Amino acid sequence: MENTNLNFENKTILVAGAAGFIPSHLSEFYLQLGAKVIGLDNFITGSRSNIELLTKYSNFEFHEVNIIEGIPQIKEPIHYIFNMASPASPVDFARIPLEIMRVNSEGTLHLLEVARDHHARFLEASTSEVYGDPKIHPQVEDYVGHVQINGPRSCYDESKRFAEALTYSFRTRFGVDTRTVRIFNTYGPRMRPNDGRVVPNFINQALRGEAITVYGDGRQTRSFCYVSDLVDALHRVMFSSDHTPFNIGNPEERTILEAAQAIIEILDSKSKIIFKPLPVDDPTHRCPSLKKLQQATDYRPQVGFRDGMLKTAEYFRSMSTHL
Ligand code: UDP
Repeated sequence: MENTNLNFENKTILVAGAAGFIPSHLSEFYLQLGAKVIGLDNFITGSRSNIELLTKYSNFEFHEVNIIEGIPQIKEPIHYIFNMASPASPVDFARIPLEIMRVNSEGTLHLLEVARDHHARFLEASTSEVYGDPKIHPQVEDYVGHVQINGPRSCYDESKRFAEALTYSFRTRFGVDTRTVRIFNTYGPRMRPNDGRVVPNFINQALRGEAITVYGDGRQTRSFCYVSDLVDALHRVMFSSDHTPFNIGNPEERTILEAAQAIIEILDSKSKIIFKPLPVDDPTHRCPSLKKLQQATDYRPQVGFRDGMLKTAEYFRSMSTHL
């Protein structure tokens, strides 16, 4: 692994999707290390409040743009690019499928062209969804996946697979210095409360004492990573010397029903659990193999489920008092 304790004072980092949940934390991480961070977002799913938070740092610059249309001319040298610009919640897949497909194809193309022109290192934030409904478990990076081409998740899964292939091709065709990560389920403060994903739904339902909506029989599994661990993993991969894909996340797997029960207990909630229909093509199992990441970067997640859920609940509580 390369030295991650770099001096960032003279480095410029471009973060596409900076108003989003994970990228806003990532941007703040580098701002605190003294880097100049240039954020791009069109707020299709990102939050203005996240950008307001980042603009408190004098080394942050923001451009409201849709990267599908192109990237604003940036004169200064860019050293690192994180492509984090894509809606990623299953509720978005039904609402804005074409925007998702375009940002992961045309938007990614535009960013890769900037990386090529600036000789910047480029990290593609791909997803565990490239494995589809996986037939091997836990998922290892060389598994090619089991993905539905025509279905409610296809707009995301297939366009992320395309984005990975595009990244690969810019490496082979133009020698762009690329990295690829596949992000597994991540949660924490700054998620949208109405994001539709399981953690904001369950926490907000538990806080309000409303019924917790488990889809299907709740036996499907996920592995939840707290956002600061995810940022750490992103950083480690960006500064590793290996350009092949890395899973990033937390390998502690639980069923969705267990997650619901645990959240009720952790938050000392009176909520009951109710069952709702399972969405089409909902993956039955998901758990990252982190062997490759751990061997290459010494990554170990630091925040456990209980602490992470408490911090996230605290955030949603503070949000509701500001409404
Ligand atoms: N889920 C659930 N209740 C909810 C929201 C989600 O049971 O209110 C389930 C969903 O069916 C899936 C898992 O939780 O099996 C994770 O869903 P999420 O939308 O967070 O993301 P995914 O991992 O499916 O992309």
